Amino acid sequence: MSQLSLKRLEKSFNEARVIKGIDLEVAEGEFVVFVGPSGCGKSTLLRMIAGLEEVSAGQIEIGGRVVNELPPVQRGIAMVFQSYALYPHMTVYENIAFPLRVEKLPQAEVDARVLAAARVLQLESRLQHRPGQLSGGQRQRVAIGRAIVRQPKIFLFDEPLSNLDAALRSEMRIELMELHKRLGSTMIYVTHDQIEAMTMADKIVVLDAGQISQTGSPLQLYHKPDNLFVAGFIGSPK
Ligand code: ADP
Ligand code: MG
Repeated sequence: MSQLSLKRLEKSFNEARVIKGIDLEVAEGEFVVFVGPSGCGKSTLLRMIAGLEEVSAGQIEIGGRVVNELPPVQRGIAMVFQSYALYPHMTVYENIAFPLRVEKLPQAEVDARVLAAARVLQLESRLQHRPGQLSGGQRQRVAIGRAIVRQPKIFLFDEPLSNLDAALRSEMRIELMELHKRLGSTMIYVTHDQIEAMTMADKIVVLDAGQISQTGSPLQLYHKPDNLFVAGFIGSPK
């Protein structure tokens, strides 16, 4: 059974149809990358899965259950955004702990989860620092830590590396792939960067103007692009 299913999913803002009937199955533990040009609907699709945007038509199922009406916190999902909005006045510890404070978890549980996340992300020596004292890569890791402590079944990433310079981007790419291996969680990763898509994905979903243009492994898309849009976007010969 799929962990996440999208069925004829649609989204309109007023008259504008932005997501135009998307069907997709995501298996547990899969690393799926949504790729496509700016404005094609990647963020809207993620926000719908997260429950931050209402569904206009169709269905979202998580673990076999329709979640269209379920509030974000009950979906077992955590989202990491592009602009990692950390609280500058709080320590790294408190930034990572923040979602657990909101849920009013007991202090011992908060401690255990923050320390476990810090260990995975190699932030143990930075817990009492403030975001301003960290490098860009460390700040991005804090943002990811905030997602990890919620112990989600599904992670959603919306262009998490696009604000970083090229060297740090390739380093973080490897870190995220290692994190995926270690946690074994399902990850859905949005990017407009073909290299990220080709190197990170188990499965790539190419989006074009609110529709899926093609779905497949990086090798499938490279060697057998269905159409010129995919060929052009992935950079494969056709
Ligand atoms: P991407 O993330 O692929 O760049 P988005 O999902 O942000 O694309 O946007 C897809 C389309 O939906 C764009 O044309 C954008 O202008 C439009 N859009 C996104 N959010 C809203 C909104 N809240 N109200 C109206 N239009 C929106
Ligand atoms: Mg976007």
